[in-house]
Formats: sequence, structure tokens, C-alpha cells
Amino acid sequence: MIIAIKPGTAGAEVQEFAAQLEQQGVRVHFSEGIRQTVLGLVGDTTGIDADALLAHHLVEKVIRVQEPYKRANRLFHPADTRIDIAGPDGETRRIGAGYLGIIAGPCSVETREQIIGISQAVKNAGAAFLRGGAFKPRTSPYSFQGLGSEGLDLLLEAKKVTGLPIVTELMDINHLEAFADVDIIQIGARNMQNFTLLKELGRCDKPILLKRGYACTITEVLMAAEYVLAGGNDQIILCERGIRSFDNYTRNVLDLSAVPALKKQSHLPVIVDPSHATGLSWMVSAMAKAAVAAGADGLIIEVHNNPEKALCDGEQSITPETFASLMVTLKKYADIEGKKI
Ligand code: PEP
Ligand code: MN
Repeated sequence: MIIAIKPGTAGAEVQEFAAQLEQQGVRVHFSEGIRQTVLGLVGDTTGIDADALLAHHLVEKVIRVQEPYKRANRLFHPADTRIDIAGPDGETRRIGAGYLGIIAGPCSVETREQIIGISQAVKNAGAAFLRGGAFKPRTSPYSFQGLGSEGLDLLLEAKKVTGLPIVTELMDINHLEAFADVDIIQIGARNMQNFTLLKELGRCDKPILLKRGYACTITEVLMAAEYVLAGGNDQIILCERGIRSFDNYTRNVLDLSAVPALKKQSHLPVIVDPSHATGLSWMVSAMAKAAVAAGADGLIIEVHNNPEKALCDGEQSITPETFASLMVTLKKYADIEGKKI
């Protein structure tokens, strides 16, 4: 971090300010120019708030050289992180570091028949994980809110039947105990910056699927991950699921550039959700392929046996048949990328 001191500041004042900075665990390097002094902070500056420094009466400008995230930063962890999850069938599924993890299933768990049927279909097509929402974040309080704990029980039943590990969204930390047999905890776009929730998840030993908030920058995504990492949980999967922009042709705008960007900045695996990104079932396969071509470490795809009758997100759900044919193509894409599926 570089701090330009206001011209004309007395040397003693700068010395005193530098001493205060050093108390925060960094070393201060002085560059004395003709008009002004520039301080270079050396060491771990993640704990130093650049915005707060700007409020100091001696400070003219602050330039951050190092990223504000440390544990999520590839600089300090060059190797890709891989998430390993053992299913109840004893088979281990992987995401990241050369493994393309495919998560598929309905937006919401609706009935036993529905979730068991879809889970068997996606398993047969080659999915590694089953998704299904039990607690749903809905824009309207009058929309279907999910089956809650009953939905969770049905999902666990599907896990037993198929052997597939399960992914489901946690909205309330008080539900964490009920998530004991959930394999991956999803934190939805709306909660990506729920810092209380993120801190709690730092203390939990389950992988977290962290979805990008729809108006969040790449740095904000990585800072959200940093919250979980700082708490001691290093099993995080980042997910690009579309951001808000001016065009409403698609539900959101899939920012595929987020995949190479996040992977450049961080060692954490990055997956893509083409379903929520586009909101259009006919576009899902094209964007799923594009995501793999862009270097994604996995996909999370909504699949429904009867999209027309789905209680949530039917318009963006593909059928088990479409999913099966997409999987055939994705295996070829994975081959080209040198990834195992
Ligand atoms: C979901 O996966 O069902 C969901 C609600 O996703 P998002 O948080 O990305 O909107
Ligand atoms: Mn959905």
C-alpha cells in the first residue's frame, strides 16, 4: 500500500503517523520527494482499511498494491483448490483442479416422486451432485417458499436412493443443525454479503457453494469468500450466476469473464449456473458449454421432469432428456479442457 502525504506536512508529524501505522503490524518505507513524502507499507496490509486512511488529515492519496483478500488470493496459494465429497455410495466426487463437477436437479423440492425421479434421471445422465431447494429465497412472499424441513427430508431420501451428494440453500443460520447431512451448503446470490451468515459458515466443516450477488464485483465475491476462509473453512466453491444489467432479454447477464477473472485472482474452484443466469431453458445448454470452454470447474443446472408445472423457475428448467444429451456433449468439452467429469 502506498500513501502520499499532503505537501507541506512537517517531518515530525509524518514520523508520528508512520509509528501509528507500524503498530498495525506493517513496516513503513519513506520516500522523501522535493514537495511531498510518500510512504510504502510493507507486509500484510489486509488489516489496513484504505478508506479509513483517506479520512486522516495528513493523507492525500492511498493506492492499494496488494488485493484486500489474502486467503482467497492465488498469490499466496498458487495451486488450485479441489473439493472432494464422498457420497453415501462410497464414491468420491470432485470439483476443481482438473475435475468438472456437475450439479443438477430441480429449483425446489416439490414431492417425493418429483425429487426421486429427477435425482435418478440426473444420476443416470452422469451428474455428480443433486441440487434442490428446500428453503427458497423468493422475491414475493406470496410465491411458493419451498417445503422447508420436509423438503430437506425428501432430498436426503433422494441422496440415499441415488448415492448422490446433495446441494441445498441455507438462508438462516438457525437451520444449520438440520443441514447435518447436507453435503454442500449453498449460499444464494441474495445472501452473498450476509456477513453474519458468512462468519458462522467459517466455523462449519462443510463445503460452501457461494453464489455471486447480482450486483457484486469480482473483488466483493472474493471478499465474501475471505469471510468464510478467515473463519477457518477453506472449502469454498464460487459460482457465477449472472449479474444485473440494462438488458432484460435474459433474466440476468451471464458474466462469463468472471470465470477466468476469479480463477486468475483465486485458487478456489469456480462454477457457473446457466439456469439463473439466463432464465431461459432453451439457452441453458449453449451457456453451459460456453462456461466449460471458459474454464469453469463445474456447472449447477436446474432440471425438472415437468417444467410447465414446476412450482419455481420452470421457464429456465431443462428436462431430464435435454440434460442427458447435454451431458454427452459436456463430456467432449471436458476432454478438450483436459478435465475429468
Ligand atoms: C437457486 O439456486 O435456486 C437460487 C435461488 O439461486 P440464486 O441465489 O443464484 O438466485
Ligand atoms: Mn431456481
